[in-house]
Amino acid sequence: MSDVLNKNFINGVWQDATAGAVFKDINPAIHSDVIGHFPESGVEDVDDAVRAARAAFRAWSKMPAPARGDILRRIGDILTERKSELAFQMTREMGKPFFETKGDVQEAIDTAYYAASETRRLFGHTVPSEMPNKFNMSIRRPIGVCGVITAWNFPVAVPTWKMFPALAAGNTVVFKPSEDAPHSGALLVKVFEDAGVPAGVVNLVHGSSTAGRALVEHPDVDAVSFTGSTETGSKIGEACGRLHKRFSLEMGGKNPMIVLADADLDLVLDGLLWGAFGTTGQRCTATSRLIVHEDVHDALVNKLIEAASKLTLGYGNEDSTEMGPVINQKGLDKIEYYVGVGKEEGATVALGGKRAVGNGLDDGYFYEPTIFTGVTPNMRIAKEEIFGPVLSVLKIRSYEEAIQVANNIQYGLSSAIYTRDIATAFNAMHDIEAGITYVNGPTIGAEAHMPFGGVKGTGNGHREGGWEVFEFYTETKTVYVDYSGKLQKAQIDNVED
Ligand code: NAD
Repeated sequence: MSDVLNKNFINGVWQDATAGAVFKDINPAIHSDVIGHFPESGVEDVDDAVRAARAAFRAWSKMPAPARGDILRRIGDILTERKSELAFQMTREMGKPFFETKGDVQEAIDTAYYAASETRRLFGHTVPSEMPNKFNMSIRRPIGVCGVITAWNFPVAVPTWKMFPALAAGNTVVFKPSEDAPHSGALLVKVFEDAGVPAGVVNLVHGSSTAGRALVEHPDVDAVSFTGSTETGSKIGEACGRLHKRFSLEMGGKNPMIVLADADLDLVLDGLLWGAFGTTGQRCTATSRLIVHEDVHDALVNKLIEAASKLTLGYGNEDSTEMGPVINQKGLDKIEYYVGVGKEEGATVALGGKRAVGNGLDDGYFYEPTIFTGVTPNMRIAKEEIFGPVLSVLKIRSYEEAIQVANNIQYGLSSAIYTRDIATAFNAMHDIEAGITYVNGPTIGAEAHMPFGGVKGTGNGHREGGWEVFEFYTETKTVYVDYSGKLQKAQIDNVED
């Protein structure tokens, strides 16, 4: 326990919550493995953290952006050195296999170097004035104090998608990680400290919805970036709207993979196993609906059942493990509930449909890879996010029907289409209502320098990743410099009636 970083980090000091309350953090694969007890922070702790972030803002925002970039580069270097060590702890805490958590850390490394490079490119515009001897430009300014609230499934990558661009642009941060991945959050913040991020620039406050709400509602927090469920995101959106705050929401998904009759079925199979059962199906971008042409339906489903039934479940820090546990009892209950719903709706459980037991799995939250066939577009298991290793298979007869079924949901995060026909692929890029479309690849696999985000019930119009995230973390200031030496009235002096 002594080697576990289990405190808040406020103004450069590791400390307990003011009220002294704690919550327990366990390994979802081995419940007897208690990782630690973490601060259940309250309003006072959030207030301390926001005050520290506000105090640090001026100096940090005044630092030349490339100097901030140098610090981000050091963060990338330290993450690289600690990649395996971090990944081990992340797997222990949230369950996905070690090779996946290494990828999670790598995404953070890529994001660090990308954000560092953007500090030399925080472009504004210069444009001609309509008046003589006048210069027009726009520049980018940081917003101020940013509240960062995240889910547990990418416990290092997702917080860095938010924090690195926020810091690069000159903002300061208060970070509230998920209560299901506090240790990973703390290990990440330790990297910031060790890289020389000044006190108060990044603050960490552990806790649950109480701390999250306090951060959203705090009058001195200028912007909120959230990743999590659509239900929570809606509440945050309402509060931020009321308080006139800028907010970015990355929420749930129900991502379709369309497989047409001309697809390479072996390629599809590899993509499906990774897309549907990677991270135990607990990705916002997980492939949760297979929309497959009737001509190849049976052949593909048979191959899939055979391959998925062979996946090795276990503790993710063991080499043999291909699929880890579900995050917690609530997650398991939700999966069990939806499997019941699917059965009642008349779908067929073609594989799984129950908790995985025996073989050393009894002490964890394991659920068998599950495939529902005979799913129709208006069933709840075809429309609602389950967030587990459950794939719904829908049979279609044409491209047009596939698009209709794919779009028949409230979400719009990721999507995929498998076809060898280039015209169909290009049509799908336009026709699928989603923020991301993969052609001949599964619905997962974001790269750090590309925009990431969803439409409809998944997002509120912002993007993470790539250049676009800098739009969120900066304000545009428009500047006019009149060097004519006289008053010039735009739209009046230069227009003859
Ligand atoms: P969640 O909404 O329960 O919690 C997310 C975070 O919000 C946690 O830190 C939690 O403590 C905090 N929170 C809860 N209530 C709050 C409130 N009222 N005010 C402020 N903060 C509050 O989500 P989860 O179960 O941790 O994560 C799973 C969900 O996240 C899934 O729906 C998944 O699709 C989504 N997700 C989306 C993306 C994306 O980029 N679109 C990425 C990962 C996960």
